[in-house]
Amino acid sequence: MAILQFPVDPSRLGDNDEFIALNSDYSVAHPSDDTSRRIVEIIEFISRGDSSTIPPENLHEPFVLRARLDTPWDGKDTVICKAGYGKKATEKLRKEAQIYNGKLSGLQGICVPWIYGYYTGCTAEDGRLSVLVMEDCGQPLPRSFNKLPQRAKKLMLQCLINLHKAGVEHCGIDDRRNIAIRPSETNMCEIRLVDFGDADDDHICEVNREFLEDSTEPNFDRVGCEEIYQVCMESEIWDMDHVTFYDKAVPVDQLTSAENLLEVTNILNELKEHEDLRDWEARGAAQARIDDYRDWCQDRKCWESTPLFS
Ligand SMILES: [Zn+2]
Repeated sequence: MAILQFPVDPSRLGDNDEFIALNSDYSVAHPSDDTSRRIVEIIEFISRGDSSTIPPENLHEPFVLRARLDTPWDGKDTVICKAGYGKKATEKLRKEAQIYNGKLSGLQGICVPWIYGYYTGCTAEDGRLSVLVMEDCGQPLPRSFNKLPQRAKKLMLQCLINLHKAGVEHCGIDDRRNIAIRPSETNMCEIRLVDFGDADDDHICEVNREFLEDSTEPNFDRVGCEEIYQVCMESEIWDMDHVTFYDKAVPVDQLTSAENLLEVTNILNELKEHEDLRDWEARGAAQARIDDYRDWCQDRKCWESTPLFS
């Protein structure tokens, strides 16, 4: 049976630290090989559970760390360990491991990390300790969805669609820490979705993949799935084909000047019927609307060429 030697006190791993031997639980996740391993270095804590306190104060929420082992997996130097103490954390981790190794097993190494094993054992002071060991897929997204290059947005959406088609709704995708990114030799980047602690693995997805070909925003029915539509909206994946001005939809090619915007919307004539609105206010609003649109275009162009990795 494969064993993982995990530090008794992960927050203070030093030369003389003690380890607890955790057994691989084959019923949850079969380890990718039978080699026993020991954590020799904790490089960083990625997440310390739901509060900002560090272990051991917050032992009962799973926490995530990047570690180095005495024997690498797949020739890779580091792994990610998601660990937790106690019954509640164990149940959460077990469910997550089962999702990775059940419905998402065919997407490991493609849209989600490779799972190396699930280990569990009893500590002297903190009850049960469970650890899910997985591939290190890089850093969290460096910036918000709408500031990614279009190619990265599409890669992220394709991962999410594959996930949904496998029957899993992430339910925490708006947190960019749940999207890992790293450079790729053949593509702009590689994207992996992580953290299925709150996922719904009974999702029946009605998404229509063809919406990915649309350049401008379709209606919700064309996309067909709430979580996927939400990510599209947040990432501003679609080009803007119109703006709204005084509740009127105006095609963006009409935003040539404030005068033109006022003319195509016929706002000045309408204002005459509403004495509470004045000409100069409408002219100012028209120019501001045009400036906003130009700024949006400029920002988009700028983020498109800003490198994802420093
Ligand atoms: Zn869906």
